[in-house]
Amino acid sequence: MTRPYNFSAGPAAIPDAVLIQAASEMLDWQGSGMGVMEMSHRGKEFMSIYEEAEADLRELLAVPVNFKILFMQGGGIAENAIVPLNLSQEGTVDFVVTGNWSQKSFKEAAQFCSPHLVASAQNSKFTRIPPAAEWHLSDNASYVHVCTNETIDGVEYHTLPDLKALGSNAPLVIDFSSHVASRSIDWSKVGLAFGGAQKNLGPAGLTLVVIREELLGKAMKHCPSAFNYKLVADNGSMYNTPPTYSIYVAGLVFKWLKAQTENGVSGVAAMSQRSIAKSNLLYDYLDQSQLYENRVEKSCRSRMNIPFYLRDESRNDAFLAGAKARGLLQLKGHKSVGGMRASIYNAMPLEGVQALVAYLKDFETTQA
Ligand SMILES: *Cc1c(COP(=O)(O)O)cnc(C)c1O
Repeated sequence: MTRPYNFSAGPAAIPDAVLIQAASEMLDWQGSGMGVMEMSHRGKEFMSIYEEAEADLRELLAVPVNFKILFMQGGGIAENAIVPLNLSQEGTVDFVVTGNWSQKSFKEAAQFCSPHLVASAQNSKFTRIPPAAEWHLSDNASYVHVCTNETIDGVEYHTLPDLKALGSNAPLVIDFSSHVASRSIDWSKVGLAFGGAQKNLGPAGLTLVVIREELLGKAMKHCPSAFNYKLVADNGSMYNTPPTYSIYVAGLVFKWLKAQTENGVSGVAAMSQRSIAKSNLLYDYLDQSQLYENRVEKSCRSRMNIPFYLRDESRNDAFLAGAKARGLLQLKGHKSVGGMRASIYNAMPLEGVQALVAYLKDFETTQA
């Protein structure tokens, strides 16, 4: 069965091979007589699924040994509260606002600490990342928060900020929800990374937190126990019942990622090459087109989420209906920004982007 190409921003497409395997194991996981949803999270069957998923993820993302990997719940939005509850010590926290998601994080943090706006791209309608020379970092911040891929605005950091070089000793916190596992991460610059799984790793319900060990144990006293990173880490992410089925499916995605190859490299390195090829194909077409436009500065365009607008917005509905008829799904832009958006995460093959570009071309020609 060939399925349509799904450009959803999240929950997003999952590789066919993963869904086929999950379906085949639905009633009986590897001769255990149980489906994964029906297993005790502390039983040996699920423990083996969990341990393999964690080890595979550590290998894929090259997470150093002095970082803990936590499998939590609540999504990126809950982390907007959980991070300050654990790391702010009710002090000052620096935020760089580059789009809808970092702005949400900045606003939520005000309930727990004193958020300080280091720089904002709001007056450019989130089409750029303010250069480090424009940042006003605090002297005493508990941490600095950036969203390294703005899913709605289509803005991505192609290198992480080097806070030490900018004169700050604060740990860097990154929201990598929508581009995790699409490129390598320089962990030497990172204190904590968080992200929901439903963009690029698997089903909704699982939230990934990767935290430098020295940052554990600083939570405020009213931090809920289930969200206290130290308690979660000390209990191997089983302080409460973890989202077992989401962990299992994400684990299958990790195996799929490890098996992907491109020019002699595999895993995230292969995904990175593919993401460059896929996004270049789409941006190159948009940039030469008379009908469509992407408004983000070239230096910070996302390889994962590509928003674009029809210069004649009255054609939006016809565009979406025609796309659906061609098997190109969920291209409508986020309601806060309008227009269109193609999310091309790891599960989107190059052929899907080629099919999209062919449609963009045909639609433009017939409308001319
Ligand atoms: C989707 C997303 C979130 C929110 O995730 P939820 O699971 O809905 O809480 C946060 N940050 C970024 C960058 C996202 O893409």
